[in-house]
Amino acid sequence: MRIGQYECFVSPSIGIAVSDGRHSATELLKRVDLALYAAKDAGRNRTVIYNEALSDAAASRRELEQALRRALDHEEFVLHYQPQVNAQGEPEVMEALLRWASPDRGLVPPGVFIPVLEESGMIIEATRWVFREACRQACRWHAMGHALRIAVNLSPLDFRQADLAGSLLAILEEEGASASMLELEVTESALLEADEHVQQTLGRLKAAGLPLLLDDFGTGYASLTYLQRFRFDGIKIDREFVSGLPDSEQSVALVRGILTMASHLGLHVVAEGVENERQAAFLRLNGCPSLQGFHYARPQPAAQCRLQQNGRPINLQLPLDG
Ligand code: C2E
Ligand code: MG
Ligand code: MG
Repeated sequence: MRIGQYECFVSPSIGIAVSDGRHSATELLKRVDLALYAAKDAGRNRTVIYNEALSDAAASRRELEQALRRALDHEEFVLHYQPQVNAQGEPEVMEALLRWASPDRGLVPPGVFIPVLEESGMIIEATRWVFREACRQACRWHAMGHALRIAVNLSPLDFRQADLAGSLLAILEEEGASASMLELEVTESALLEADEHVQQTLGRLKAAGLPLLLDDFGTGYASLTYLQRFRFDGIKIDREFVSGLPDSEQSVALVRGILTMASHLGLHVVAEGVENERQAAFLRLNGCPSLQGFHYARPQPAAQCRLQQNGRPINLQLPLDG
């Protein structure tokens, strides 16, 4: 249809429920609604007829979405922090990892709710919350004398936002944090639609002084052109490769290759998912500058992070009054 000078394309998604006369109007409307959602989930522009199987999955998914909306309003999210340590085992960067402290469901891991935040568009608000909270925590740690940087994960869906860079830089300023206190982790899937817009956004964030790291390196397309085009500061080797160290010949070859390439390109490297000393020793020996994993620490709330510096435990807790 034409509206003014615009030509609009409209595709219908239709849910159908068949009544045998025993259901109330409300119940029928609920069923068509579920069928409608299924039609949209299946890619839109189609019809779906209600059946019982649809009901459970769709209902619990929608329940989750509603609960997440409340969670955003009521600040039920918390950040846990996991250190990235240098060759001496000292923490330099803390990665902020999102958890949902749900009153009904307990502490929910991000794998469960991030896809729902992404599908519903709520991820944009969630990312802003994470980034603001990370700025505040970085300022607290700096005020306590710990020059720890905080790494924040971005979702590929964050780049759909018109002004991601502007919104993050505004938060940085509002919270009085400096760009060097933070860094951003981006997965390759965010770069797949490597259009002008993504490139500009990353360029602006980088120009403002925020280091960029390519997360889960090796699982996606591991395209070297991304590293060059987006001028990444570093890569995080996915734990899939680290877990095979030092026994799997393939993992050894891959990790050595990645480390050599990174050092030639002047890229920082973090190895993810280091779970034991054998893996850590291999990585250190091969010149990996930064290590992260359960071997050093599990993700923890800021107040419970126990870390060492110069062989002495450092206390990351705030003084009592916070
Ligand atoms: P990621 O960014 O690759 O984060 C690393 C994940 O590996 C974390 O899981 C961490 O707990 C886990 N991990 C760390 N060390 C080890 C280890 O030694 N062994 C094993 N087996 N696992 C280890 P988590 O916290 O469940 O996060 C999963 C993913 O969820 C993250 O992967 C990230 O992609 C996403 N995520 C987490 N927080 C956020 C966020 O604030 N925003 C966005 N967009 N995504 C987030
Ligand atoms: Mg990450
Ligand atoms: Mg990762």
